[in-house]
Amino acid sequence: MTIGVLAVQGAFIEHEQMLVKLGIPCIEIGKKEDLSGIDGIILPGGESTVQGQLLEKLDMKEPLRAMIKNGLPVLATCAGLILLAENIGEKEAPHLGTMPVTVRRNAYGRQLSSFMTTADVKGIEDYPMVFIRAPYITDVKNTDDTNMADTDSVTILSEVDGHIVAAQYQNQIGLAFHPEMTDDTRIHQYFIELVQSCH
Ligand code: GLN
Repeated sequence: MTIGVLAVQGAFIEHEQMLVKLGIPCIEIGKKEDLSGIDGIILPGGESTVQGQLLEKLDMKEPLRAMIKNGLPVLATCAGLILLAENIGEKEAPHLGTMPVTVRRNAYGRQLSSFMTTADVKGIEDYPMVFIRAPYITDVKNTDDTNMADTDSVTILSEVDGHIVAAQYQNQIGLAFHPEMTDDTRIHQYFIELVQSCH
């Protein structure tokens, strides 16, 4: 198994260190050719506008979108979640737009830019969450509240103060916080299990 970590901008090294800790081989994705042969991809935090522009400039946006639509597992954190979102509000066009959620950028305001809290993420108790100029999810297209196995629905994985901060749609996991910034590897482990289940 090889996990690609998008390495055009942002906090990609920290994700690589988490994968090393878990003994999972990973490669940095800096150009289109790097995309071939990966079993999953991590989209790190950073600045989504810059990342989106770079994906376009490097001719990676369409191939990556196609791979995700075809089921490539994705762990997207913060700016990465914004890249995946189908809707970023009225003023901005979506980037990859593969996840049927609406996000609000810098949702906690620019002044309260960083904070830490602890909350449960479906199946994982007391997960330490680092938020840095974070978005949150304001709307999901369908939820699976009915508990029916609907492959076209979004599962809410975590809420903090009434806001959705983690969700999953098919093989796409989107997080508003940074799981690579603490020692807790449980979210990366959950992602690796998802990748394994797709093999
Ligand atoms: N505020 C950034 C954006 O909108 C995301 C911040 C982050 O990834 N930590 O792109």
